[in-house]
Amino acid sequence: MLVKEYVPAVEFLKNFDGKILLASHENPDGDTVGSALALYHFLKKKGKNVKLGCKDPIPYFLAFLPGAEDYIQLPTEEEFDLVVVVDASSVDRLGVPVKAKQFMRIDHHKGGDFYCECDLIEVDAPATAKVVYYLLSNWDADAIDETIATCIFTGLATDTGFFINPNTDGEVFQLASLLVDKYGVNPHYVAENIRERNPLRRLKLLSKALDSIRLENHGKVAVMYVLQDWLDELGAQYADTESFVNYARSIDGVEVAIFILEKAKEGVWKVSLRSKGNFDVSVVCEQFGGGGHKYAAGCKFPLEKPLEEVINDLLKEIEKRNNL
Ligand code: AMP
Ligand code: MN
Ligand code: MN
Repeated sequence: MLVKEYVPAVEFLKNFDGKILLASHENPDGDTVGSALALYHFLKKKGKNVKLGCKDPIPYFLAFLPGAEDYIQLPTEEEFDLVVVVDASSVDRLGVPVKAKQFMRIDHHKGGDFYCECDLIEVDAPATAKVVYYLLSNWDADAIDETIATCIFTGLATDTGFFINPNTDGEVFQLASLLVDKYGVNPHYVAENIRERNPLRRLKLLSKALDSIRLENHGKVAVMYVLQDWLDELGAQYADTESFVNYARSIDGVEVAIFILEKAKEGVWKVSLRSKGNFDVSVVCEQFGGGGHKYAAGCKFPLEKPLEEVINDLLKEIEKRNNL
């Protein structure tokens, strides 16, 4: 299906002749990695000079994706002709500076920075992977192969919580079905790699994190955290905390879940907010310099601020909105 909004981006990339970096956001998830990898394989097929970059290592649960091993760690001294910021609202979300003559953004976050008329930003898309699918299919649907489709499927599946989050609509299922039937994606293979390969340390860490949960605001807000000491004790990585916040959200009566990760090396408390019902957590995170979507958003606080103050700031801001 040809969509005219995609034509400028297709033409721009088709005619682009320089060094391209596909950049994934820090704390990479399945959408930023799946989307960048789909673009990577496709652009290589089209003879483009393209690299992948991310500040953080690719988490173990995404390492099965072909090409994940090709990521270079950012920052790099290398200067690129074009940096494509994938699944992030601005180049700042890469977490480190990158040198480029030109930027382009392929994303589904609202707001943020705009770089050129060929940016592809669809705030209603459930995942950047869907935007990437339309870009590639408008360019050359026959060049999409099983590997590329698997990367797209991974982005779609992870950002929709495996097809159950509120951003899951009929079109998500239609696209998933097309990726399976036309391009040969194996959904079980993807799910098994992402969800069934937990290291034991992750479960031990989860046990501590679950223990930290407390309810605030008459049971409407759940607070959960992970301290750097716990990670060090277990030899755990930041990626081991992926989706922990969903346990806090899952509690009956909870409308907003707060998860706070102490990242000593970076000197920050990394905050993840999730909601169910009608609460927009992106607005809360925007107050603290972050952002995201209605049901999933994030922000950071400096480590100098005591944890209880961080929690109080968040609780106050949440209470202010929607009369929780
Ligand atoms: P996370 O809690 O890190 O899984 O992020 C949830 C959502 O919020 C994702 O869409 C992120 O891209 C977005 N997000 C997380 N942290 C930030 C931040 N510091 N600034 C802007 N958006 C963020
Ligand atoms: Mn993401
Ligand atoms: Mn996304």
